[in-house]
Amino acid sequence: MHEVLRIRTTKHTSIVNITHQVSEVVKRSGVKEGLCVVYTPHTTACVFVNEGADPDVVKDIVYSLEKLIPWNDPSYAHMEGNSAAHIRSAVIGNSRVIPVINGELALGTWESVFLGDFDGPRERKVIVVVIGEK
Ligand code: ZN
Repeated sequence: MHEVLRIRTTKHTSIVNITHQVSEVVKRSGVKEGLCVVYTPHTTACVFVNEGADPDVVKDIVYSLEKLIPWNDPSYAHMEGNSAAHIRSAVIGNSRVIPVINGELALGTWESVFLGDFDGPRERKVIVVVIGEK
């Protein structure tokens, strides 16, 4: 089964913890053992799993992405002017696969699932697919 989450971002760069929404989809699916695919169908957004306990980790990820992939680089060719958002999305990737064990996401103690938006604010879709044995 699948569900489409719609996440409203609030800033040009937004990292949104979507663990709760994804977990609720897993619960509704009734799958006990399987896989959860979290996918965002956008070229300037991403999905990743990382530390959700200390918000400074996400801050440092954003800081480092902005340092490594600056917004204003005169060598970018893409006319729309948002190449950095495309590159940040491509580097991180737009999906993750998380095991489902005993009917729950098998995340580590400190792990959360994040949607990253690098060209907001706007509404972003996140497709969650859950497959496996009920
Ligand atoms: Zn573009």
